[in-house]
This record gives sequence, structure tokens and C-alpha cells, in this order.
Amino acid sequence: MSDPARIDLHTHSTASDGTLTPPELVRAAADAGLDVVALTDHDTTAGWVPAVAALPPGLTLIRGAEISCRWFGVEPAIPLHLLAYLFDPAEPELAAELARVRQAREERGERIVRLLQADGIQVSWTEILAGADGGTVGRPHIAQALIRAGLVATTSEAFGPDWLGERYRLPKDDIEVFRAVALVRAAGGVPVFAHPRASRRGRIVPDELIADLAVAGLAGLEADHEDHDAAEREHVRRLAAELGLLVTGSSDFHGTHKTVRLGAHTTGPEAYERIVALARGVTPVASS
Ligand code: AMP
Ligand code: FE
Ligand code: FE
Ligand code: ZN
Repeated sequence: MSDPARIDLHTHSTASDGTLTPPELVRAAADAGLDVVALTDHDTTAGWVPAVAALPPGLTLIRGAEISCRWFGVEPAIPLHLLAYLFDPAEPELAAELARVRQAREERGERIVRLLQADGIQVSWTEILAGADGGTVGRPHIAQALIRAGLVATTSEAFGPDWLGERYRLPKDDIEVFRAVALVRAAGGVPVFAHPRASRRGRIVPDELIADLAVAGLAGLEADHEDHDAAEREHVRRLAAELGLLVTGSSDFHGTHKTVRLGAHTTGPEAYERIVALARGVTPVASS
């Protein structure tokens, strides 16, 4: 590995709402000078096999996912994202939950499209599904349809309050967060709370919940992320230190669906080694 190692533990491919295919993603990670990249598509492991097959020399792949969760401790419940690393994808209960969430995302996507159509907005669900090309469907795919229709110019505009951010936002049928932590652990995986203080994305959960999740098996918190400002990053670091959790940083790269670049934020080698040491599901993959 180069010194210091460049480790980016949160990226998306066309297996969910990124725009690079898994082979393109691992090649881009190598080109960006990364030593380690984690593929963490929303609610799916479908990108793992093609990413492994295309892994360039010198790059280590951490197989992961970003799991759509919800905390029901307040009304209405708060959605949150759990990164899960190196879990066994064949563990039946976790695999079944991920399949259920992917199905629920399709139903929710279609309902959002019906709401848009009811207001006279010309978007086609068939076209949006085709755009997702078998990957996990998300609002970024609907955003592309709004762009194609000339209604908004950019993905971030499509996430504004007049569109998918509020007016045409519907909840997903996510996994209860304590159940998700337990399932990831049972599958030998390492759960890390993604962008836990990203208030600009919506409501955030209280620190007390994070403390309870740590007791339940949460391993870490993502601190360095583009949706955290400096104070939020510091808050996450302090909380992680108090709770004995590891701290990660990552790009949350989505290709052209977002402006952030691979390696824009990175994870230190100690936190990375802790994740690998805790994992019991699958191993990191390095091409020979
Ligand atoms: P969904 O998973 O369908 O609820 O859609 C959420 C996804 O949309 C996130 O994983 C991001 O990839 C993307 N997203 C959320 N907010 C924005 C934004 N302001 N601009 C661009 N993409 C966003
Ligand atoms: Fe996403
Ligand atoms: Fe996320
Ligand atoms: Zn993400």
C-alpha cells in the first residue's frame, strides 16, 4: 500500500443509484489512487461479483451495503442509513430483509410517479425502471426522469422541497434499525452508522439512540462526509470517542448523480483494521 493508505469506505454503483457499473467503479477507484474501496450499494450485494471480477491490481475491495433503516422512537419515524461491511450475503434473514426493502422501494417509486402524474407531470415508471437497469431503485432515478422532462436542471434541484425532497416524497418500508444491527452482526458483518448528523438531509436521531445502538452492536460512525459541516464532524468524533466506536470518512460517491469525487474523504488505517478484524462474514478481496 502507498503511505499513507487511501481508504474510501462508502461508494455506489449502478447496482443502486450510482452511475458507474461495478467494474467501472473499481477501475475509477484505482485511477483515483485509492488503496481500499468499499462498494456499499443501497440494500443490495448485486455489485459484489462483477466488482471482484474486475478488481485492478493494488486495490482492495471491501464488500458492503448501505441498508435503509428507520428508528421508530419518535413519530413520524426517522429514516437512517447503516453501512454494513463484510457480512455473509447468504445469511437468509438479512438477505430476505434486503429483498423486501428492494421490493418496497419499487412500490414506493411507482407511487411517487403516480403522484407526479396526477399533477399532470409527464414521467414514465417504465422508463424509470429501465433507467435503474435492475439495480435498487431510488429517488435519483426519478430525478433523472424529471431532468429528461426538462422540469429541473440537476439532481440536487430534483431533491428540492417542490419535488422529491418534500412535495413528492414518500417514506420507504425500511428495516427497524436495531433489527438491522442485529442482522448484520448475525451475518458476521460490521455495522457503521452513515452520515449520522447530516441535518441538511432531514431529521437526525439523538445521541442517546446512538449510545443504545452501540450497546446493541453498532461498531462505528461515519464522521467525514460531505453532508457534515465541521461542527457536525467534530460532534461525531467526540461521541464516537465517548462510546468507544470507530470513526470513518468516505466520499459516498454516486458517479454523476452527485458532485463528490472518489477519495474526497477517507478513513484512517486503524479504523479500517478494526473493521477487518471484527468481520466474520466475507474477507476483503485483493487481486493478485
Ligand atoms: P432514496 O434512497 O430513494 O430515498 O433516495 C435517497 C438517495 O438520493 C440518497 O442515497 C442519495 O444518493 C440521493 N440524494 C439525497 N439527497 C440528494 C441531493 N440533495 N442531491 C443529490 N442526491 C441526493
Ligand atoms: Fe444513494
Ligand atoms: Fe446514505
Ligand atoms: Zn451512500
